[in-house]
Amino acid sequence: MIVYEIFKSIQGESTYAGLPCVFVRLAGCNLSCSWCDTPYARVPDEAIEMTIPEVIEEVGAYNCPIVEITGGEPLMQEEAAGLAAALLERGYRVLVETNGSVCLSALNERVVKIVDVKGPSSGHGGSFLLENLDHISPEDEVKFVIGDRGDYDAAVRFMEEFLRGRTEKVLFAPVRPQLSPRELSDWILRDALRVRLQLQLHTYIWPGERGR
Ligand code: SF4
Repeated sequence: MIVYEIFKSIQGESTYAGLPCVFVRLAGCNLSCSWCDTPYARVPDEAIEMTIPEVIEEVGAYNCPIVEITGGEPLMQEEAAGLAAALLERGYRVLVETNGSVCLSALNERVVKIVDVKGPSSGHGGSFLLENLDHISPEDEVKFVIGDRGDYDAAVRFMEEFLRGRTEKVLFAPVRPQLSPRELSDWILRDALRVRLQLQLHTYIWPGERGR
C-alpha cells in the first residue's frame, strides 16, 4: 500500500478526541475539497510503498492501543480493509476515517468508521454514497465539516432524512477561519441539535505542523 506517514499523536476529531492514537495516513484521494487540511497526502509523490506486515511493525513500535487509518482517502486502496482486519486481530482498536464517497462494505464490522458527509462549500456536496448508510452502526461516527450556513442547513437536513436510528455519534466541525466555533455553537444550541462540536484538538496543540 502507498503510505504517506505513520505517527503518534493526540486524536483530535471524533469521540476518541484527547486519546493517544497512532495514525496511518495513506496517500491519494478521489476528492479535492476546497478546505482540505491534508492536501499533501492527496499527491502520492512523497509517499512510500509498504506491505501490511511492515505497517504493523511500525505501528507496534509506538506502544499505543488505538490506531486510525486515514488519508487522503484510505479506502481508495484495497489493502486498507486488510490492514484494518490485521490490526483488529492483534487487539488494536481500529478507527477508519473516510470521506463517505467510497463503499464501506469491505471493512470488518468491528472497525469504528468515522464517515464524512461533504457539504456544498467543500465542492463535493452530494458525494456521499447512500448505500454506505447500510454499513453505519451505532458505534460509528458521522462527521459534517461546516464551512458556512449552507453547509449547516444541508447537514441538518441530512441528519433528519438519513441518520435517525443509525448512530447518535454525529460530529459538527467548523472550517476555520471561515466559520468561528462560536457561531457554529450558537447555531447548534439555538436549534437544540444533538450533535458533538469538534475543534480538531491537534491544531490547537501543534498549529500548522504536519505529522501531528
Ligand atoms: S476527502 Fe479529505 S483528503 Fe480528500 S480532499 Fe477532502 S478533505 Fe482532503
